[in-house]
Parts: sequence; C-alpha cells; structure tokens
Amino acid sequence: MAIFHLKDYKPPGFLIESTTLRFDLHESETFVRSKIRFHRQDSSLSILHLDGVELEALEFRLNGRSLATGEYELREEGVRIHGVPEFFELESLIRIHPEQNTTCEGLYRSGPLFLTQCEAQGFRRLCYYLDRPDVMAPFEVTIEADRDYPVLLSNGDCLAKGNLANGRHEVTWKDPHKKPSYLFALVAGNLGVLEDRFETRAGRPVSLRVYAEKSQIPRCRFAMESLKKAMRWDEDRYGLEYDLSNYMIVAANDFNAAAMENKSLNIFNTRLILADPATATDANYEAIDSVVAHEYFHNWTGNRITLRDWFHLSLKEGLTVFRDQEFSGDMISQGLVRIDTVTDLRENQFAEDKGPNAHPVLPESGASVDNFFTATIYEKGAEVIRMMQTMVGRPGFRRGMDLYIQRHDGQAVTIGDFADAIAEANGEDWRQFKLWYSQAGTPRLRVEEEFREDEGIYVLHLTQSCPATPGQKEKKPLHLPLALAFFAPQGQEIEPLSSAPNDQVGAYATGGFGTSAEIVRNSEGARLFHLRTRTARLQFTNCHTRPILSLNRGFSAPIEVDWDRSSEDLLFLYLHETDAFNRWDAGQVLMAREIQRLLQQVGAFGTSATQVGAFGTSAVADEVKARDPWAALPKSVPPAPPQTPRAVFSLNPSLLAAFQKILLDENEHAGLRSRLLAPPSISYLAQSLELFDPEVFERSYHMFLRSYGCSLASACRRVYDHLHGRFDDRTDPEARGFRGLKNWALHLLGWAGEGIEIARRQCETTRLMTDREEALAVLAQHAEAEGQKALRDFFSEWKHESLVLNKYWTVQAALRRPDTFARVISLSEDPHFPMRNPNAVYSLLGVFGDNLTQFHREPAAGSPDPYSFMSEKILALDRLNPQVAARLSSCFDFCPRQNPSSRARARQALGRTLNEKLSANVRELLARTLKVLEGR
Ligand SMILES: [Zn+2]
Repeated sequence: MAIFHLKDYKPPGFLIESTTLRFDLHESETFVRSKIRFHRQDSSLSILHLDGVELEALEFRLNGRSLATGEYELREEGVRIHGVPEFFELESLIRIHPEQNTTCEGLYRSGPLFLTQCEAQGFRRLCYYLDRPDVMAPFEVTIEADRDYPVLLSNGDCLAKGNLANGRHEVTWKDPHKKPSYLFALVAGNLGVLEDRFETRAGRPVSLRVYAEKSQIPRCRFAMESLKKAMRWDEDRYGLEYDLSNYMIVAANDFNAAAMENKSLNIFNTRLILADPATATDANYEAIDSVVAHEYFHNWTGNRITLRDWFHLSLKEGLTVFRDQEFSGDMISQGLVRIDTVTDLRENQFAEDKGPNAHPVLPESGASVDNFFTATIYEKGAEVIRMMQTMVGRPGFRRGMDLYIQRHDGQAVTIGDFADAIAEANGEDWRQFKLWYSQAGTPRLRVEEEFREDEGIYVLHLTQSCPATPGQKEKKPLHLPLALAFFAPQGQEIEPLSSAPNDQVGAYATGGFGTSAEIVRNSEGARLFHLRTRTARLQFTNCHTRPILSLNRGFSAPIEVDWDRSSEDLLFLYLHETDAFNRWDAGQVLMAREIQRLLQQVGAFGTSATQVGAFGTSAVADEVKARDPWAALPKSVPPAPPQTPRAVFSLNPSLLAAFQKILLDENEHAGLRSRLLAPPSISYLAQSLELFDPEVFERSYHMFLRSYGCSLASACRRVYDHLHGRFDDRTDPEARGFRGLKNWALHLLGWAGEGIEIARRQCETTRLMTDREEALAVLAQHAEAEGQKALRDFFSEWKHESLVLNKYWTVQAALRRPDTFARVISLSEDPHFPMRNPNAVYSLLGVFGDNLTQFHREPAAGSPDPYSFMSEKILALDRLNPQVAARLSSCFDFCPRQNPSSRARARQALGRTLNEKLSANVRELLARTLKVLEGR
C-alpha cells in the first residue's frame, strides 16, 4: 500500500493556461477530446506526467503533431509525455465507458442520466490531466449527444447550442473562473427544470435552475427557496455575492456523497433536493436547507479560494460546515442547532478519535485521498473555526474573513493561511492554538471545585490531557477557550469579576494567579477563560455562597469534561441555565448517570437470569431502589410524577419531575423541549466503556426507557393529544419542533407499552412522512403483528419511490430487537434492494453497522455471524463502488472494545477480507483496524 505524505508536497512543475474538452456521448461508449495549454514552471523538467485511470488512449498530439508510441509512455496511473517545451498544447483523444462504471466517480450513468463526480480524483477517470487542486484553469466544454438527451450541462455560461446530423446536438459551455479539475461537472439527460431568479445586492440578475426527473419538479420548490435564503444570507453575513449569471442544481439518484459544489453546477443526491410532506420527513427538510446552503457557500470557500492539496481538505470543508451551521442557527435557533451539531460530533467524530482511524484535522499521511472525507476533517474542522469565532466574536471573525478573501481570492492555499488571516485581522497570536490542526484526539478536561465557606473562597482546578492516538503518543497542551457563567443558588446569573463587596447575590473577584487565570469577555460579551497550560487554578474571593458554575457554555471547546459534580448542580442547570446547550448537556449527564447505574446493576447480575421486558419483579430493580444516590434537592424542583407499578426501575424522582416540567412547559420552544428530553444515544454512551457488552447495554437502555415511559405516560398522552394534527400543514421550524415533541411522547408511550394503538392510528391516517416514519418505528420495535403489518403496508405503498423506500430499510436496520440481524440478512437479499444505489446501502447496511447493540451481538452457535456478513458485503461492494465500501468499513472501528471471542471473530473476518484484492480505500481502513485488534 503506497502512502503519501504532507511533507512531500511540491508545487506543480507545469501549470495549465486553458482547458478545452469535447465529450461525444453514446450509449455504448464515450469519446473525450481534450486540448490543454501547458506552461512549464520548472525548467529542469522535460517529461510531463499526467494522471489517468482506466482510460483507453487513442491519440496524443503535441503542438498539432501526432506523437509516435515511443514519445509517450502509458502507465497504470497515467501517461508520461517526453520532450516537452516551455509552452505547448497537448491534445488527446480517449475512449471511456460510463455505462459500465459502477463507482459513481468520474463520468458514469445514474438511470437515464450521464453525470460526473470528480472530487477528489474522479477527473483522471475521464481525461489525462494534472488532477490536483493547485492547478487551476478556465474551462471550455462542448457536449455532443443524441437529442434524446435534450439537457446538456457543464460549468459556467452557455456559449452556443446547435443541431447536428443523425439526430444529435451539441452545447458549449465556458467557465471564465479558473478552477481545479475536481470542480468540473457534466450532466446529460432528459430532465425537467424548476426556474427562478435572484438579484444580488449589487443588482445583478442570476438565473436559478433546479433540474430533476420531470415528475419530481414540484418536489424541488423547497430546495429552491433554501438556495435563495442561502444566497441572501451570505451577502448579509459575509458580504459575499454570487459571481456568475446562472446557478444550477441537478438531482441524481445514484450519488456517493450528499452533494457536490462544482462551479455553478451543483450535483445533489436526490434525498437532499426532493421534498414534500408526504414523502420527506422534517429531518429531511432540515438537511435540505443546510446542504443546499453548504454547497452554495463553497462558491467562495472552496471554489474561488481552493485548497493547495488534499491534506488541507478541512480548509474548505471545516470552514464551509461552520458557515452552514451558522446559517442554520440563524434560520432556526443557534441553541438548537448547536445541540444537534454536538450530538453529531460526539457520535461520529469523538468515536473516530477513539478508534483505529483517529487522525488530525490536518493529516500527515494517507493511502487514499477518498479516506480524508471524515468527521474529523469536516466536523472537528468546523469546531476549530468556531473556537476562532468564539475568541474574536462574530465582528472580529468577519474582519478575518474579509482579509482572507481579499488576500487569497483565486488561489489554492493552506489551513495555516486561513488561520493566519483571522488571527492577523484581530491582532491574535495563534501559534499554540494551531496545534488543534496537527494534534489528533479529543482533549479531556478534569474539573475539581473547592469551596471554603468560612473564608468565602471558591477555587476551580482545571487539568487538560489528550489520550494517545495512532502515531501520536505524546500530546502538548492545547489552547482551550472556555466560555463560562456563574449562578447563585436562587437561579440568577452572577458577575464573577465584580469586586464590589456588597453585591447582594455574592461578589467574586479573581485572585492573583497571573494572566492564565484571567477571565475576559469577547466582543459579543461572552466570558472566556483561556486555558493554555496543562493545569490552572482559579480562585474567587468574597463568595457568600458556593456559586454554581456552568463551564464550556455553548460547547465553546470540543472536549470531554471529567467532572464528578453533584447531581443537584446538574439538575439546577438542567432547569435554569439560559445557555441552551449547557442546559441540554446537564440533562445528558443526568440521564447517562441513570443508565450507568443500570449498567452496573444489570452487569453485576449477569445477563442470563432475566429477559428483556420481564424486569418488573426482578432483584435488579429492588437492588437499584435501595441504593438511590440522590441527596437533598435544590429548591424550585416541581413534585415528581407518581411512578407507576409497571416502571421497572426507580428513576431519580427529581429527574422525573424535571422531565415532566419540561414536557409540559408550554412557554419553552417545543424543539428545545424534545431535545432536552431525549437521552444520550447508545453510540455516544458506549464510547466511555473499555469493554462493551451489547446484551447488558441493550437491557439497561431498555429498562431506562421503559421506566421513563411508564413514569411519564399520562403527561405523554396529554402532550400527544394536545399536539397531534395541529401543525400538519406547516413545515417551518416551529411546526417541526411541535411534531418532534409529540413524536417523542409517542416513543415514550411505546416504551411504556401504551403506544401501540396510537401509533397504529397515526401510521394509518397521517398524510405526513414524519409522522408515518415515527409511528412505523414504534410499531416495528414494540409490536410483532402490528409492526409486520405496518411494514408490509409501507412497502407496498412506496416500493416504486426509492427515496421513501430508504426509510423502510432504515427503520428495520435500526431496530433494537433480537431479530434485527435476521431481518437485515433477508432484506439485503430481497430483489428490491438495489446494491448499486449508495443511499440504499447506507440505509440498510450502514445503519445496521452503526446499531451497536445488534451488530456486535454474539451469534448463537450455528447462526450467521454479523461480522462475516458485513465483511462479505464490503468485499462485494468494493468491486462495485470502493467509496461506498470504505464508508461501511467504519462499522468495525468499535470491535476493539468487544470481548475476546468477538474480537477473534472480527480478526478472522477482516483477515479473510484483507486476503482478497481490495481498493486502496478499503484496504487502508480495514488494515488499520486489524492492526489494533491484533494489538500491534
Ligand atoms: Zn463541502
């Protein structure tokens, strides 16, 4: 396996002045004629090496002269042209077969469409080229095809159209902006179009077009509105206007990623364009808003300023993810979006940091560029940029962005160039801060408090560390910007820096411990403590009562906090904190503690004694009841709802009281209420365990939800009855919030054993896919006969709508039932399951691989093994589509936390797979996992 390294980067020896392409599309073959003007940069070079994969070269001409076979050399990874001068034009003619291409890279077919996906290295599959992002050129492209393909699109403006003989026609496009090859796009097909227009702030008209299958055009309206909102927002927030006269989006069924930001011609996975209430869920609507905006924002952060090389992928992705998060926050609510963002980050990126494939935001080496498209590059990259904004405030960040764009427009640059621009515009020194880019792993912060009541002194001890990751044993201390606030026990926020002795709620002054303990305000008023050392001690004097600290508000630093703080303080924050994120996070810790308590109990009693659903009278519940660790409770906690006899485990009464208060609090945003009430996911909780026992975990989680549901059942019914059907004609954030809350109540009723009839009715009568999918999940999880019937009905109604059918695979692959694996096997063998469609593969196999309690469950003797099953699927997929196969491979990341016999099964399955011929993508990931499993 060849490894390439960041330190080996060299500027290109040749630049390209212009690229002219002609595509001659046929059903059985495609000819690509290229005419490229080169300019040599390094005078010592006389050989030009061009990238090219699986191309059939028919002819090369240098400055118009046809080259003899000895003058060029074809290789597996490209072609070498000998004896090239300083300036020259190289023409080539090649033949390719998009109709046989199943990889969804390069030029390929999706149903009746021809389309391209060139990021990261797909362009070399359709043309010999300098396929690297720091080689940028203007493109002129002519596409010729049968008139059965009336829509022929490429980047830029349409220059000419014309009919040819034999029922063929051609269209020529010219993109005046220089761009790297990964932003090239071509689409040919018989598509419908939705048209609209936008006027930029400067008054320039832009024609907007969304292309899709003709029957789907009405379902493109929401995406069109999303696009216009994004265009306006980028002008308002960053002063960035669109720079061409047209902007096109094409929706394609078979697409590996979410979407692609090709200059002026975005190509989208249909699931992120098509929406109407009958077929798309509220979550789908939210994703469309955010991804349409994301791809649009790339026009400046990615396209006009691009990346020097693929190691710097986070230059454009971290920044653009950050920009789309800010956009969603402005459209919905910054607090809610922050909660969702961190939920994702913890489930995916923190897991990546703890697994065999942990890497820094700026990786140092790799075997496959495709494997750089990770949660670390995207989500952690966005967190690093968010910290910059937190430190300098939004106005300061805008100043930095202005400088970045003014300085680097039209260039291919590095992450360091970006960070320097933001720092310089704000007079900051971020040499230490930039370690966030090179150091892998999730930092941990240990927090200890000390309160000396008689002296009125409150002391905070902070210690940071970062666990070792592959290839990085020793870690340096990072610069952590920690946003914080203090509360008096009565609920008011108090000023930590005030030294006035007579402050009625208690005054706090910093002690004399140097600059590292200084609490500063950013330009937006947030209080920050900059932790730059391994340890810090903060002392506050004049404290009449112990202040309640809320630390890392808004998740200002993407870290894990070890803080054995009292449940009373957490409950206080859960009810009173005004920062939505920290309020939510306090609830997450409280719920995690309850689940942890159950885990210890269930684990201690073994798993063979009791069956799921039959815990009611077991010794477990009694034992747990006897050891309730909760002490005196803060004031202002409402009375707890009565626990019903069917609750199998005594949840903490104050927590239940808080749940009930939040569930019924009509003054609070419904979207926040449903988030505050949802427990941490299994995939997040499981990360904190050295050894993960799927059965014990499932039983504990089950018991938690069942007890929660039983105790709140009557409140859930009230909420359900009050909200059901009230906002059915709306898809705005407020309506989505109410539906989310109502469906959470339905899920809890399901766990309480009371939701079946309600779910059946909702499933059969609703017109909304959100309600249908949620009710289907409740039925499939909790009711055998009703669940089977609901699934059958769903399938027969939607079997011809591939996007909706994905929900059918997902609901079943996500079930936490003992028969989940058997269902996944049979669904994967169903002739309706399209193995070639990436969305379907992610919906069934991807979701099952992430279903920790089912995928890692040990098979009974003689039963199929989920690890072998998945590795065989990965092998089969690798032959069709290596990118999709590589994404599935991450399901093995969690195997090192399994018991020895499961680890042995995983070693066998991976060992067998690695003996086969594999793509570099899959080989790199599986080999790293196997290495960790073998303790190497
Ligand atoms: Zn992107």
